[in-house]
Amino acid sequence: MRSSRPGAPLVTREVQILKAIADGGTYTEIAADLQLAHASVKNYAHSAIKKLGARSQAHAVHLAWESGLFRRERHGDHAGFAAHRYRDEEPCDDCWAGERAYRAGRRQKRRQEPPSARRGARGRSQVVRAVRGGDRPSEASQSPQEGQAVTEETAA
Ligand SMILES: [Zn+2]
Repeated sequence: MRSSRPGAPLVTREVQILKAIADGGTYTEIAADLQLAHASVKNYAHSAIKKLGARSQAHAVHLAWESGLFRRERHGDHAGFAAHRYRDEEPCDDCWAGERAYRAGRRQKRRQEPPSARRGARGRSQVVRAVRGGDRPSEASQSPQEGQAVTEETAA
């Protein structure tokens, strides 16, 4: 049985449920949202209340808010996922989903980026060098018609 003595740190589920209560959710709604048994939601809420040393659910929500507990908990993205790992716990479903999206995004970036990005960077610095080296070639390449006109004028 998990310890729920006052002062013990809240587990992710307890914070999640407390936050859902703070957002106006009922046990029934929260249970449906998180796909948990009604009794589990109630247990998590009660142990959160105990750990916070609160005298009621409303008091617990108030204390959690005051202590910054809701702000510290971040879920649904890579940062949330990393925070779970840091706390040495299994990431919640939201964070798994966020992490999968993050990894997929990085894989896609890696697939597209390296060759073109490197070539692009080198290409840009060459252009800068070319422009600094002499203005005539870049003018000609930017506006071939004008370049032509200049050439004709020079010839005439
Ligand atoms: Zn999470």
